[in-house]
Amino acid sequence: MTRRTATPHGRGRETHETSRAQTAGASPGADPDARLAEADGGPGDRSESRSHGESDGGRKRTVLISGASVAGPALAYWLCRHGYRSTVVEVAPALRDGGFAVDFRGAAHLTVLECMGILDEIRRHSTGGGSAMSFIDERGRQLASLPPEFAGGDLEILRSDLARILYHHSLAAAADGHPAPEYLFDDTITSLTPAPDGVHATFARTPSRTFDLVIGADGLHSTVRRLAFGPERDFVSHLGYYVAAWDLPESAGHLAAQAVGYSEPGRIATVGRTPRRSADPGYAGEAFCVFASDEELTHDRRDLPAHKEAIARAYAGAGWRTPELIDTLRAADELYFDSISRVDVPCWSTGRIALLGDAAYGATLGGMGTGSAIIGAYVLAAELAASPDDHSAAFTRYERRLRPYVTQCQEGGRGAGAFFAPTTQEAIDARNAALNDPAARAAMLQQGHDLSTAITLDDHLPAERTLHPTGTAIDLT
Ligand SMILES: Cc1cc2nc3c(=O)[nH]c(=O)nc-3n(C[C@H](O)[C@H](O)[C@H](O)COP(=O)(O)OP(=O)(O)OC[C@H]3O[C@@H](n4cnc5c(N)ncnc54)[C@H](O)[C@@H]3O)c2cc1C
Repeated sequence: MTRRTATPHGRGRETHETSRAQTAGASPGADPDARLAEADGGPGDRSESRSHGESDGGRKRTVLISGASVAGPALAYWLCRHGYRSTVVEVAPALRDGGFAVDFRGAAHLTVLECMGILDEIRRHSTGGGSAMSFIDERGRQLASLPPEFAGGDLEILRSDLARILYHHSLAAAADGHPAPEYLFDDTITSLTPAPDGVHATFARTPSRTFDLVIGADGLHSTVRRLAFGPERDFVSHLGYYVAAWDLPESAGHLAAQAVGYSEPGRIATVGRTPRRSADPGYAGEAFCVFASDEELTHDRRDLPAHKEAIARAYAGAGWRTPELIDTLRAADELYFDSISRVDVPCWSTGRIALLGDAAYGATLGGMGTGSAIIGAYVLAAELAASPDDHSAAFTRYERRLRPYVTQCQEGGRGAGAFFAPTTQEAIDARNAALNDPAARAAMLQQGHDLSTAITLDDHLPAERTLHPTGTAIDLT
């Protein structure tokens, strides 16, 4: 693999514009009522933690993190606890609102949330569990049903709620004298160049700076990965499906009265409601669609009209009430639309730059990306704190520890597109038959559970902690 640490665009270019970036104190997207639990336990609690982020000369080590969704703020939290000074740059002007429910499952996910001190907070904001969904025929008759825990795992939360909790929690971690993370919204890294003892970063808006380390937590389409490791096509494989989700306008709320999914070969259209959002003004339910397509869309990922057109094309001529549903796209001003893809990066670090979360090991659907991002942030921060003077060794241990686990989780997601949108009628019938068979259904659920718990974290948990009991019927011991 070619190891590159500079961008062809604007190498070494300094920007001296006045920064329009918002910093932490401005609290973009902040929920003023958010009450944050005090951090408890975890490696950050060790008494010597404050010194981990200091160099020999007593200077705080600095880490630039790209992305303020899940992985980025989770890492900022842990690095803060270890005494590092983090700067998180987010391309969106505020914490992003979009995205539907994400879930945590199994003892490893829950333990890390508990170590962060946010498990209860997440429980308070949870959706209350996934919804059962019926697969229906053209006339609305039930053919099979999907149990709620299939989508909702042990704990389900809206992605935007989770991001907000993590963001506030990372800021609150500074309360006991740790350096607060700095958030730069509405900005992006434009180049990364190795410098003596650091990485020189230029930004679109903020004046350039040099950091000790840079972490790409900027998702499936990571900019840090492109700048430091190579073009997206080298690392992201399209798995032949697309996923789209959007909110329904009030006028179409009747479509979501029951959670149902209508399948035809190569496409499914589903509707439902998330109880947690029922009090949101104007919330009437949401559409979630998966369709097969080998074609890789090449237009701008922020081109909303082009996305809407691609979705409408994919559902042309579909039965049931799909035309009515697709019609609601016109009113949607937020849309989650992406290919079902998988990220494989042969080595997650190059020099002082490393990747985390979806940027390193993402899988769009079914790959437990959110739980893996949380665990990854925990392990990466703990490894950096364990050898603060040797980031290479820390990056190597982080990858060695995490790769087998996240690769298995990604593999689990490989069949997600084919599960939702089988490409033949025979395959649709086989899926429905499996869902109607209690043993096959239980095996599917167990498989997901086994994948999520296939990491022990023994060497990272404080001595007095054990993996969190999930409270599910499955015996973890
Ligand atoms: C808007 C949105 C909606 C989503 N909806 C769902 C969903 O409904 N269901 C689901 O299972 N998963 C969803 N995901 C993905 C899910 O959040 C991730 O798979 C998982 O949580 C891992 O998180 P991550 O932090 O690694 O990546 P992501 O959550 O993808 O976050 C990456 C962050 O980096 C930011 N970013 C991107 N480029 C740059 C740049 N150049 N500079 C600075 N910041 C940048 C993005 O704006 C984003 O905030 C969504 C992600 C996003 C961003």
